Amino acid sequence: MKELILLKSGEMALKGLNRSYFEDTLIRNCRRRLESLGKFHIYKSQSTIYVEPQSEEIDLDEAVDRLGRVFGIAALTRAAIVDKDFNDIKAKAPGYLAAWLDTANTFKVEAKRSDKTFPMKSPELCLELGAVLLDAFPHLTVNVHEPDVTVYVEIREKAAYLHVDQMRGAGGLPVGTSGSATLLISGGIDSPVAGYMMAKRGLQIMAVHFVSPPYTSEHALEKVKTLCKKLTPYCGHIRLAVVPFTEIQVAIRDQCPEDVFTVIMRRCMMKLAERVAADNECGALITGESVAQVASQTISAIACTDVACRMPVLRPVIGMDKDEIVKIAYKIDTFETSILPYEDCCTVFTPRHPKTKPKLAYVEEAESKLDSEALMQRAYEKIEYFVIG
Ligand code: ATP
Ligand code: MG
Repeated sequence: MKELILLKSGEMALKGLNRSYFEDTLIRNCRRRLESLGKFHIYKSQSTIYVEPQSEEIDLDEAVDRLGRVFGIAALTRAAIVDKDFNDIKAKAPGYLAAWLDTANTFKVEAKRSDKTFPMKSPELCLELGAVLLDAFPHLTVNVHEPDVTVYVEIREKAAYLHVDQMRGAGGLPVGTSGSATLLISGGIDSPVAGYMMAKRGLQIMAVHFVSPPYTSEHALEKVKTLCKKLTPYCGHIRLAVVPFTEIQVAIRDQCPEDVFTVIMRRCMMKLAERVAADNECGALITGESVAQVASQTISAIACTDVACRMPVLRPVIGMDKDEIVKIAYKIDTFETSILPYEDCCTVFTPRHPKTKPKLAYVEEAESKLDSEALMQRAYEKIEYFVIG
């Protein structure tokens, strides 16, 4: 039987005149995500997006799985395409719905008729199709309040569609509709989750990662690439900038007081990330910081790093507990990669007693010992770019 996937867009419905832009972006994102599976005809009509495979061989389960991770989709369902003729509906419904109805005890039928020229009205359609299904599956009874399965028959513009309950989509807004932002990605648990959360709000994500060879290994960089790859089902392809950070860290270690090493290092990160962001037309930075998780994430420390750059810094996990962040990391399948034990540059030369309440004046004074402009310029010139996904 010919099938397709029906998508309901979410929050976009609220966006008035921009709606078309949101829907067109969503369609483009769906196309890209399905590209490697085969040819699909994807189009919108009356607030539904239709995803029609153009060959029988296409793996629709995989397509549903991929579309389930595309932001901007509130709900989705596989459906059978039948003629707008009750005889065809009647003939095909039992066969198509057997997979769900064989194991159910109760069901109901819901009909939607957006094509008002169809001769049967919705209540009549429900009754007639209900009777056909009761005949075909004698073990079933009707329960209109709490059915095990709800069967939908939708009479639309081009055809009629049969399906069961819809699946919840990934929600959020289509990636790209809110602009672009640069994610500071470490190999840790928090930053990939932060990237996922902001992509959900419609931001196209690019990433920047700082490496300190030989203190950090090639494995650590590979791990970050793997994390980016794991984000691509949600974010689309990710451009990754890798910034060599060893010289800066060594200079801070040698020339600045130990107790503000981390804060100064993080200020340098923010400044370099801001340059990368500007080069790549991003309007904001994203970090995985969470208040008081570590010494560099107290309010005083964040205050010192926040003023190092002028771009807005988005910190979507700022108020979350570790276990809440971990839950999302499991959901998006980054957790197992994040806990691989490779050293991040943030843990290289960590001071024994970091200041938990650094004062900006003290930090700036300490930082002035450093020729930070020249150091950062050298690092900037050695940035390497990769495209992941
Ligand atoms: P994460 O789990 O994301 O590593 P964390 O709790 O370990 O976070 P830190 O190591 O202090 O905290 O880092 C705070 C934030 O700084 C990270 O969430 C990330 O956004 C950024 N960051 C840390 N290390 C790097 C790095 N090597 N490259 C790019 N960004 C980094
Ligand atoms: Mg970390």
